[in-house]
Amino acid sequence: MRGAVLHAPGDVRVEQLEDPRVVEPTDAVVRASATCVCGSDLWPYRGINEVTEPTPIGHEYCGIVEEVGSDVTTVRPGQFVIVPFIASDGTCAHCRAGYQSACAHRVGVTGAQAELLRVPHADGTLVATPEVPSAELLPSLLTLSDVMATGWFAAVAAGVQPGMTVAVVGDGAVGLLGVLSAAQLGAERIIAMSRHEPRQRLATGFGATDIVTERGDEGVARIRDLTDGVGADAVLECVGTGESMDQAIRSTRPGGGVGFVGVPHGVEITGRQLFSTMVRLHGGPAPVRRFLPDLIDRVWSGTIDPGRVFDLTLPLDQAAEGYRAMDERRAVKALLTP
Ligand SMILES: [Zn+2]
Repeated sequence: MRGAVLHAPGDVRVEQLEDPRVVEPTDAVVRASATCVCGSDLWPYRGINEVTEPTPIGHEYCGIVEEVGSDVTTVRPGQFVIVPFIASDGTCAHCRAGYQSACAHRVGVTGAQAELLRVPHADGTLVATPEVPSAELLPSLLTLSDVMATGWFAAVAAGVQPGMTVAVVGDGAVGLLGVLSAAQLGAERIIAMSRHEPRQRLATGFGATDIVTERGDEGVARIRDLTDGVGADAVLECVGTGESMDQAIRSTRPGGGVGFVGVPHGVEITGRQLFSTMVRLHGGPAPVRRFLPDLIDRVWSGTIDPGRVFDLTLPLDQAAEGYRAMDERRAVKALLTP
């Protein structure tokens, strides 16, 4: 099969690789219908996470089950499935509590920008759609493997409830889908923080009612202005830098919640800051599996169309251009077709 391999910062190549096979009786092998580049793939691509050897890359994936191990009972060959970015057994205490991304036997999906993917713990991980979807639904279904479910978790973790005022820090694909998630969860007012006109338009299309272009102290002041000096009830932190986390915490009202899903790089929070702001923090890698049945329903019924975050579609062979376009912010998110 062909698959994308990160050789060094800025150096992604699509190469011929060995076909993955069923190894454990609980495995499935899935053939890609679509895959894509994640914002978090840019951390190693930019050399912020060290790259020590050529590494197959990618973790957002959906496709047709090709083969299953002898213990797999919930999916069968020919079904279309969404693959969460962390495989989970579905049976441990954390899985049963809905925190599948903290599964005692979790396995991070990698090497998913490829034609085939081996998925461990198939029963605990994969969710099939009612039928094989039409091509038009593919982009939206693909987002459920990570980016849409991550935006959803940001909103759930922030405690978004009907009628709330919500602020979203970050206008990448996760932030934009955080806007959509907050709208679906009934937020009355959604303030998107973005300086980029095309992203502002997408945010508005997903349900943002206000756009704030300022950052730092000015951004915080602007959100206070818009909320009668109170702060937002819930804030979604979708970047992962010290600056964005600081922005999120300071934009939240006392007693409000911050849902943080940006992978933290250089984020430091002091006990004194937590004590004085009286803000609740919850976040981490999204338990995608928990949200999949509900999110599949919402896409399947046409209630949501998160696939609109893809503004670039390329053949898998041109994965390198997808990385470049996202790195240079020429594209919000690149979909790759096998
Ligand atoms: Zn588990």
